[in-house]
Amino acid sequence: VYLKSIEANGFKSFANKVDVSFDSGLTAVVGPNGSGKSNITDAIRWVLGEQSAKTIRGVKMEDVIFSGTDSRKPMNSASVKLTLDNGARGLAVDADEVSITRKLYRNGDSEYFINDERVRLKEITELFLDSGLGRNAYNIISQGEVDTLLKARPDERRTLIEEVAGVMKYKIRRKESEKRLQDTKDNLNRVNDIIRELS
Ligand code: ATP
Repeated sequence: VYLKSIEANGFKSFANKVDVSFDSGLTAVVGPNGSGKSNITDAIRWVLGEQSAKTIRGVKMEDVIFSGTDSRKPMNSASVKLTLDNGARGLAVDADEVSITRKLYRNGDSEYFINDERVRLKEITELFLDSGLGRNAYNIISQGEVDTLLKARPDERRTLIEEVAGVMKYKIRRKESEKRLQDTKDNLNRVNDIIRELS
């Protein structure tokens, strides 16, 4: 699975629709301070389902919507579309290309799409759980994170290695199963109470 292109519209400083294509090999993004280089990686994190505004350098999620300049009105929505190559079927979608889109409106409504079909956030998160991509994956290393890794405690480092090795998805699924089991036990208790009352 590799990233072919990013399309952003109204996301942070990208008031005009931008389309960045990535060829195979290494891509470097260069530009003066404040020109929007980090906004590109923020866009990738965001479309992969980032839920913390802080991680993408905002205070509230709506901060990702273009807020206007002296000569341009603010926009009402932000959208980002990632197109990934899926020729090797690294993602569980039967198509050679997979696009992921996230759109946020100023009123707080958000929409997610996989190949232009409306989905829930959970479906995007699950698509990437198996792939080593995703919002918690270590495919984006930001300034300062290398240092954090070197200075991490052994248990913190273990968590990180577990995430990279793909153990995390099993931990998440175990937690979900445990919750379902508990809910079922609670239901059973309630049913038993009712039976006792009736008999
Ligand atoms: P540096 O090299 O300093 O890290 P950079 O090229 O990575 O800079 P970014 O941090 O990606 O730059 O871009 C920051 C710019 O994006 C700032 O000029 C900021 O005003 C602008 N910006 C961020 N959010 C919004 C928004 N919602 N609306 C308009 N502009 C925004």
